Amino acid sequence: MSDHGSGWLAVVGLGPGDPRWLLPEARRTIEAADHLVGYQTYLDMVPVELVAGKERHGSDNRVEIERAGLALQLAAAGERVAVVSSGDPGVFAMAAAVFEAQQDAGAPEAWRSVDITVVPGVTAALAAAARAGAPLGHDFCLVSLSDNLKPWSIIERRVRAAMEADLVLALYNPVSRHRPTQLAAAFDLIRDHRSPATPVVLGRDVGRPGEQVSVIELGALDLSVCDMRTVVIVGSTTTVIVPGAGGASRVYTPRTYPGS
Ligand code: SAH
Repeated sequence: MSDHGSGWLAVVGLGPGDPRWLLPEARRTIEAADHLVGYQTYLDMVPVELVAGKERHGSDNRVEIERAGLALQLAAAGERVAVVSSGDPGVFAMAAAVFEAQQDAGAPEAWRSVDITVVPGVTAALAAAARAGAPLGHDFCLVSLSDNLKPWSIIERRVRAAMEADLVLALYNPVSRHRPTQLAAAFDLIRDHRSPATPVVLGRDVGRPGEQVSVIELGALDLSVCDMRTVVIVGSTTTVIVPGAGGASRVYTPRTYPGS
């Protein structure tokens, strides 16, 4: 426990799972905290040697704002708090939720004075991209297919815009338990704009036990292998597949664009 008044709140990225992909600053911040707050699955990802002696506040994945409120309440009371997220905490994760809870009109005044720091982590798309080669070598965008927090019409508009702009597109939260048809619907739009030879990277449990990374042409893609632990990267018109050593395919997007 820390002295009253010296509390802080850090939102920390754990990376995809492999402890070698946990940044030294993230490690140090977790070490310095008295409280770890997060979705239980992410708390379980914190290396055991960092957890000892800390109070853990695990919760269900859907209670983001309450979890952010708990962290702010503890920090405002002088505690040292690390909120943990997988990957990068600013990518479809807790960092924005903590700012939202702090700025909420009904938030206690004491929360406003809590200094929030964000410690980055390796986000899933970057980890999967590195495993597959360099699919994000040119302009790209990240879109979450989850419609828990936004209407499906916005997702459609953004996927279509990414295709029209010839961006490489990384899809997070590809399959929702409640809307199992979303990924197929997104790929209907994608197929309207990309040839069947377009490279697609499927990264499942990247940096975790049982990791699977595959490179497939759009025309041969089987979407049924995708689940919530998969990040999907769809190439642009310039992305190519090349043979890698040992038979595995590699994929990259050239840094120069035709006509430049
Ligand atoms: N903050 C996280 C993303 C949270 S959204 C990050 O920066 O990585 C959750 C989605 O991220 C999952 O549905 C999946 O699409 C992707 N994801 C997170 N970790 C992953 C991993 N290790 N391997 C593959 N995809 C992952």
